[in-house]
Amino acid sequence: MNGKANGHLPTKQRAAQFDPKDKSVRINEIPVPDIKPDEILVKVRAASLCHSDLMLFEPNEAGLTLGEGGPFTMGHEACGTVIKVGADVKGFKEGEKLGWLPIVDCCFDCEECQIHNLYCERGESKVQGMTVDGYFQEYCAIKWRNAVHIPEDMDLDVCAPLFCAGCTAFNAVTDTLSELPGDPSSTWVAVVGCGGLGHLAIKYLKAYGYRIIGIDLSPDALAEAKSSGADHAFNPKTDSDYIQQVREITGKGCHAAINVTNSVPAYSSTVDLLRMNGVLMVTGIPQKPLSFSAMDLSMTRIRVRGSNNGTTPRLEKCVQFSHEHNITPHVTQFKLDEFEDMLKLMESGKHKGRMGVLFD
Ligand SMILES: [Zn+2]
Ligand SMILES: [Zn+2]
Repeated sequence: MNGKANGHLPTKQRAAQFDPKDKSVRINEIPVPDIKPDEILVKVRAASLCHSDLMLFEPNEAGLTLGEGGPFTMGHEACGTVIKVGADVKGFKEGEKLGWLPIVDCCFDCEECQIHNLYCERGESKVQGMTVDGYFQEYCAIKWRNAVHIPEDMDLDVCAPLFCAGCTAFNAVTDTLSELPGDPSSTWVAVVGCGGLGHLAIKYLKAYGYRIIGIDLSPDALAEAKSSGADHAFNPKTDSDYIQQVREITGKGCHAAINVTNSVPAYSSTVDLLRMNGVLMVTGIPQKPLSFSAMDLSMTRIRVRGSNNGTTPRLEKCVQFSHEHNITPHVTQFKLDEFEDMLKLMESGKHKGRMGVLFD
């Protein structure tokens, strides 16, 4: 093993692994990983489940290659403490709290890596938890350039979702706000989809002082939207005139709408929530292409922008802002042995906020 030796590490650990052959999940015993010179060995404290983890089990039309080869550990959002650092690691030492992004085998330096490492010009990027071992295991190896410090007084038990849902929501919010020059207290932003990601987007918007409308098909998610700071919350299934109501509340429609759903119809109706020259922030990723009226987009000058979970400098800002404003994700904790129950709950859509495994 490279790096500084440390204490008595176990050689084996348990992991929730996906087997591409039969699309099953099992708790397997696997080795504690070795680290390369540019890696940190982390003791995982908490790892959380992201909706995109379900992509492993679905046929995907996005052309993504997921889970080729043998079983690998699921999970791409987690946090923990440094156990050991490789010889080339800079800025991290044993015992520190940290979180990180999941893209590995990218260069971190090309133009593409400054927007999203998955698009690295080298073309070798992989996602931990999607094609190679992720974080539903007690110890994991991560690239130091993916990592950011977590302030000592932040509670690691609830931080894991910041490292996918949180930074995605934070980036979507800050990218949206960069398009909105007006006074926040009279500027309306809709958040379409108020689950794990959306409830965080609402908390960030609230901290910036914006007026917020939450939209979701689940009454639980709408309750979460309200408790996270939404001024109003609507269910398109039961509030049939919600577009009209939004127009009345906001004057002429929202100044911006952040869509975090994976639903093409939800995207199409999001445009109806916007006023002229409004901003549609594309964050959630449906499997099929989005469909809009070109006439509507052209004549109303709707601005369509995209945002994603991004890079470590942006992640650092998300962690700092969350710390300063005391924003923590709502997480329900499970044990590793309850992994399949957690997965089923995610598939049912009946959960609130985020769900994750808390390790000892
Ligand atoms: Zn994710
Ligand atoms: Zn690159």
